[in-house]
Amino acid sequence: MKIAEQLYGFIWRDPRANNGNTYFIAGPPLILIDPGHRHLFGQVEEELARLSYKPEQMDIVLATHAHPDHLEGLFQFQEPTVTALGLEEYDFIKKTARRAGWDLGGENFEPGLLLKEGNLKLGDLHFRVLTTPGHSPGSICLYWEDRKALFTGDVIFNQGLGRTDLPGGDGEMLKLSIRRLAALDVEILLPGHGEVIIGKEAVQTNFRMVADYWFNYI
Ligand SMILES: [Zn+2]
Repeated sequence: MKIAEQLYGFIWRDPRANNGNTYFIAGPPLILIDPGHRHLFGQVEEELARLSYKPEQMDIVLATHAHPDHLEGLFQFQEPTVTALGLEEYDFIKKTARRAGWDLGGENFEPGLLLKEGNLKLGDLHFRVLTTPGHSPGSICLYWEDRKALFTGDVIFNQGLGRTDLPGGDGEMLKLSIRRLAALDVEILLPGHGEVIIGKEAVQTNFRMVADYWFNYI
């Protein structure tokens, strides 16, 4: 679905399988965020085809964090497509992936771009990378200032927040990360699962509701 100018969301709504939402920015450059599970990538392919694009045309494919329902789809991309993951997340998975039983698509997975906290210019598009640990130690959120759009991965959802019981999860860190995000000027919140939130009021209400309710449980 089209969310805003150049911004599309492929929202996963099939209850029979867990998978992340994928977002597509029809730049240039062409950017895919959280390509999802590899075996479910067919849906992304279909959605792109509906917009007359093919996966191999993507310039950049990035994952907000390294859980398989966000990251796995990255493994099938090859140069010249650039794959990207947070620097801290990459360091973490190198150390722990084997132990945690995550499929890293073979020994050789190495992102082409490691994202650090700060400004990120991709072609003419300007983003801010925020390192937001808590759900996963090196999770990143991506803020697209021109659209006031925030890609949150599994940090915060519509009426919920990311679980903290997976390797490297930390409830206190997650609260701090969510507080940081709540301070941004956001009109479109694009979570890794569930429905998109549109409108500044609705986004702020969601931040408040999540803090008031869920912060008591983590
Ligand atoms: Zn996750």
